Amino acid sequence: MLHIGIDDTDSLDGGCTTWLITEIIAELSDFDLVAPPRLVRLNPNVPWKTRGNGSLALVFGEGIGSKQLIGEIENKKIYFYSNFKEKSFDKKNILERISKIVIKQSKKDSQPGIVISDTFLPEGLYWQGVRGIVSEEDLDPILSNCLTFGLRGSRGLFGAACALAWSGYHSHGRDLNFTWELIGYRDKNLWGTLRNISLETVSQVSKLEGVFSCNDPDGKVAMVPNSPCPVLWGFRGTDEQILVANFQKLGPEKPVRWFLYQTNQATDDHFCFSDTLDIVDGTSIWIDVKISSKIETIKGGHRFVQVEDFEGNEARCAVFEPSKNLRNIVDKLEIGDEITVCGSVNENTINIEKLRIISLIPRYSKPPNPLCSCGKRTHSSGKNTKYRCNSCGKKYERPSPIPELPNLELGWFEPPASSRRHLTKPIELMR
Ligand SMILES: [Zn+2]
Repeated sequence: MLHIGIDDTDSLDGGCTTWLITEIIAELSDFDLVAPPRLVRLNPNVPWKTRGNGSLALVFGEGIGSKQLIGEIENKKIYFYSNFKEKSFDKKNILERISKIVIKQSKKDSQPGIVISDTFLPEGLYWQGVRGIVSEEDLDPILSNCLTFGLRGSRGLFGAACALAWSGYHSHGRDLNFTWELIGYRDKNLWGTLRNISLETVSQVSKLEGVFSCNDPDGKVAMVPNSPCPVLWGFRGTDEQILVANFQKLGPEKPVRWFLYQTNQATDDHFCFSDTLDIVDGTSIWIDVKISSKIETIKGGHRFVQVEDFEGNEARCAVFEPSKNLRNIVDKLEIGDEITVCGSVNENTINIEKLRIISLIPRYSKPPNPLCSCGKRTHSSGKNTKYRCNSCGKKYERPSPIPELPNLELGWFEPPASSRRHLTKPIELMR
């Protein structure tokens, strides 16, 4: 088999490595795809990431037996075969053909990398790339058995190799190994112009089974990007057949190309389960903790709170403004409440990506000040003192606090789809 990994061809100003992948598939049309293209998101906390930190992998071979529709490039249907026979490839020639496309189409400030291999790369490399940082010492021995090409620093080699190391079939004990994204692409003449996709068509497809992250609870569209890139929309779901059967309902603007990608999006693969708050910048943690401070709101609407683990270690958590309604949940938490926190660590702070309320301490409200027998309202003259009537001087015991039902439910809470990380599993998929 021929495995091709590619990464870092786009940059912050737009562009899109997945578009380039469609160009490569068109260029290599003399070979058969023997697996769906893979879109692999890596550690969202690495400082040099492009917007989504996504890399791509393709597998070619000589297909046999039945084939499945996987995309369309300007009316030419593209299929993949799930059965294939071994075939030897002129890898140097193929690398040359791909490099030409990358040299021509990559952005000037990107650092593209292409890796060609006969096999999947060791899966451990993927877990390192999605949860931590891959070092050159880790990568070099693996790449010594591959054919590689890089430009302007070749940072993309790291992501390209990690994409070849993700098989999509191991989940570290999690229930969802992979999901699908069907990406539609725009006519070149329209790149940079407003996308004409109606709220109604988005709302219609968002209700299909297994489909997720199309829109926010307030109706705001999340599946259509705002950047001037070639992507018209990204249609995500757990059942690829539902995506293929329904994407034409989106419109009125229609894609001139589309491709179905197998992805590690919505798998929670980036989180490391932990019992203790020994947090490390650049990683993502999943941990049960107790709230240990009052909630602090700072300018811009961000929230901060201290939490502690069951050994008493403390750490700070943040919920930023784009998390919208998640902040209202956090505002209602009190010292002693138990929650599961899932978030990425930056500057010793856990930026919460979703949370679960495990248990709530009893809530009380302050009763009204007692009425004096003379009819006047009494007043408190300080903490733990009795209430006193200013008019006749009589004193009264402090009334006990009134038990209250917490205005919160146990369970999971998350930010809206448009501010969710690609890797973070939406709650609707967690059941
Ligand atoms: Zn009185």
